[in-house]
Amino acid sequence: MQVIILGPPGVGKGTQSILISQKLGLVHLSTGDILRSCVESKSPLGLQAQEIMNQGKLVSDEIMVGIIRETLSAEEMKDKGFILDGFPRTLNQAIALDEIFTSFHFSDVKIINIIADEDVIIKRLMGRGRADDTLETVKNRLRVYKEQTIPVKVYYKKEYPVFDFIGMGEIDEINARIIDALKGIRERA
Ligand code: AMP
Repeated sequence: MQVIILGPPGVGKGTQSILISQKLGLVHLSTGDILRSCVESKSPLGLQAQEIMNQGKLVSDEIMVGIIRETLSAEEMKDKGFILDGFPRTLNQAIALDEIFTSFHFSDVKIINIIADEDVIIKRLMGRGRADDTLETVKNRLRVYKEQTIPVKVYYKKEYPVFDFIGMGEIDEINARIIDALKGIRERA
């Protein structure tokens, strides 16, 4: 199974992705985590990405698509399946991902969309204490989400069934609903 998890920053994609990957035995692929480990190791990509991330902007499509193509080519991805957390974030990334899925014969694609009120999201992001969670950066990330990532959701809704979930309330309850949906029970939050 190939799962794509969509939603604004701070909606709980990371938390839910980890639980889903544990319960379904999928590989958890967070592009934010991949970039943060590049920043930590001070690799050339990390140094380039750090400034962009701290401003709440997006790393280029070319770099991100390259990372994803390379990561998804591992045998493990075919064997176990995976959950993509934080990718695609632009329409170009979504279109590139369609091509990658076709070329790797990934055809059991399920798309999860998590929603929450903006004030809840801002409060959560401000409470995390990450380097890119200052008020200015948070506002920028939400603006970037609306401008660049909402079109991804619109694109997917035309192409695939997209399961919508409300990401407010108990983490375990939200997770149980998502797992049920992924196992084939069409439930709506
Ligand atoms: P996240 O942990 O998913 O909130 O990502 C943290 C930051 O990493 C984002 O604000 C972007 O600067 C960068 N990033 C993560 N995923 C992507 C992506 N798919 N495209 C571009 N930038 C990304």
